[in-house]
Amino acid sequence: MGCPAFENPFCARNYDPLPVMLTRGEGAYLWDVSGRRYIDMMSAYSAVSHGHAHPRIVATLARQAARLAVPSRAFYNDRLGPFLESLCKHVGLDVALPMNTGAEAVETAIKAARRWGLRAKGLDDPEIIIASGNFHGRTTTIISFSAEAEYREGFGPFTPGFRAIPFGDLAAAAAAVTPKTVAVMVEPIQGEAGVIIPPKGWLAGLRRLCDERGLLLIVDEIQSGLGRTGEWFAFQHEGILPDAVTLGKALGGGVLPVSALVARREVMDVFTPGSHGSTFGGNALAAAVGLEALQVIEDEGLVERSRTLGAHMMRRLSAMRSPALAAVRGLGLWAGADIDPRYASAREACERLLEKGVLSTATHRTVVRLAPPLVISTDDLDIALDRLEETLAEIARNHSGQSAA
Ligand code: PLP
Repeated sequence: MGCPAFENPFCARNYDPLPVMLTRGEGAYLWDVSGRRYIDMMSAYSAVSHGHAHPRIVATLARQAARLAVPSRAFYNDRLGPFLESLCKHVGLDVALPMNTGAEAVETAIKAARRWGLRAKGLDDPEIIIASGNFHGRTTTIISFSAEAEYREGFGPFTPGFRAIPFGDLAAAAAAVTPKTVAVMVEPIQGEAGVIIPPKGWLAGLRRLCDERGLLLIVDEIQSGLGRTGEWFAFQHEGILPDAVTLGKALGGGVLPVSALVARREVMDVFTPGSHGSTFGGNALAAAVGLEALQVIEDEGLVERSRTLGAHMMRRLSAMRSPALAAVRGLGLWAGADIDPRYASAREACERLLEKGVLSTATHRTVVRLAPPLVISTDDLDIALDRLEETLAEIARNHSGQSAA
């Protein structure tokens, strides 16, 4: 683990980065300290959907930073209202509560659901149904309902009040509802689990279940939202509207952490002054950048771009014939490519891609994730996919060489 040439003794070892030291980014490109250019095929887990250093977003950032950045929510600021109005209109829900990181937006959703359960149903011991394989962040409450041993080991005691069902299983969701259930909270596509897409109709089924049983449907769109799947939000593929949606990552335009819970008024009304907050949440700089990030997606047609380029990426991935490639799946500009572990680890595939000038990461040892900035050109996308094809061929060759030896 770790690469001695790059390690910094002052940096905690909670990551195991690929051996490349980056110093600059522009659009879908990243440069290392030696000046070598790479194609970014993961865009910081969708945080950089707009591309690196988007000129309009950087200009907004600089202008707003020089004017007013962090006045605190103890006062009103003139950027927050326009940002949240645009956000609510895009999502199709009534009210937004701004935070910073994705995990904070999820924590806000959990608090909202619990207090709503108390107010609407008199439940002081509420349960939230979540899906196995989920990833909603790293706080102690959120890891309490993670199935990943690595995320939990040694971090207990854990927060009770969550009931897991298999991802994509509607009957299991229905069976898991108890008199204590207040909400169902899921990712529409599980990114960290390996870009896992549930059966068609699952989210719509959860919507019906929540309506029938008087539960809130909370959809975590922190990674899937803002164009990544070829719709503004992945829930739109199912023609439904959740009661609450968490957003983050690309909401910060690739330059700042900006997140929010967006919800129906009845749900958000559980928050009263003093009940929840964040020093940085909703600051003027974040709000200005968030507003511009939404406007850029609109003006540059990035949702449409994700849909058409994503279809192209899936066609190419599906046409790749390599024994080292076990499966591919995806939606929009977001795909997971399963490397057959008998041939290589996904990490090895990413290291080989890095040598070829393409940056991506592995998830769960077997999956190479592909999620380029939505502004990537067709040519660069094709170059990156060519490099992936070469990588698969190399891995397969190596394997047959080893088997023969
Ligand atoms: N929810 C989802 C679906 C995510 O993919 C992530 C991060 O990968 C989070 C929440 C947590 O976001 P953050 O790392 O900004 O706290």
